[in-house]
Amino acid sequence: MDGARKVSVGSIDCWLLSDGTNLYPREALFSNVPPEELEPAVRGYVDESGMVPSTYHCLLVRSGDRLALIDSGLGDLAGPDAPVGKLQASLREAGVGPADVDVVVVSHGHPDHIGGLTVERDGARAPTYGRARHYLWKSEWEFWTSPDLGDLPEMMQGAARMTFPVLAEAGLIETVAEETDVLPGVRLLPAPGHTPGHAVVAITSGGEGLLYIADAVVHELDFEHPEWLSAFDAIPDLTVQTRRRLLDRAAREGSPIVAFHVGYGRVTQAKGAYRFEP
Ligand SMILES: [Zn+2]
Repeated sequence: MDGARKVSVGSIDCWLLSDGTNLYPREALFSNVPPEELEPAVRGYVDESGMVPSTYHCLLVRSGDRLALIDSGLGDLAGPDAPVGKLQASLREAGVGPADVDVVVVSHGHPDHIGGLTVERDGARAPTYGRARHYLWKSEWEFWTSPDLGDLPEMMQGAARMTFPVLAEAGLIETVAEETDVLPGVRLLPAPGHTPGHAVVAITSGGEGLLYIADAVVHELDFEHPEWLSAFDAIPDLTVQTRRRLLDRAAREGSPIVAFHVGYGRVTQAKGAYRFEP
């Protein structure tokens, strides 16, 4: 896809910003699916090495004269030559620099969503969006800043440890525990399951809507198979319950969604499951 694709929601302008494409083992994206069921379904989605490509999509939103960025991609955690971590180039394509961003929304604390929130500067980490208030759900903040992250993979623990203290130190963190408008028409909603305080964003203006569902689904196959889980879904039952609630809403309202790992499209209901139309 293009680095920056503009869509309008009433009087609010949005840009779907590519952070690039990453590759996942199928067992990571579909961890509770028996191989005999998974293999035929995933066949059309794997690359020649047997990995599943996942495109990363952040969202930039202009409400009035203020800008909100939703999720930050992998940032420099990806390494300089990786095909991912490209958000800054996509932001430039939209004509925006880091200092223009007023609000950052952090859907959850996984590396692909927070890696770009800080950058290496003079040998230390510094906020990328140094002027922006950074919103996230309170329980998500408490989870990732707790002293013991248990047996979570080191990559996940490390990303949180190198990011959240820097933002707190700079006084940029805003935690919320109820539905909150971060800008007019841009509302943060709870969507727990994928992580304890996973949150999504509803954008509404002039009778139109757009629902950014973050990682409530992590692959296009999750629409057709809403019970399928990834290895990254922290609370299985709640993941499925939240996914159904959000996809039911999107289908009912008929307005488009953006899923971080899938992109922009519309959702319809189909025999107890869903269909995604890019
Ligand atoms: Zn993700």
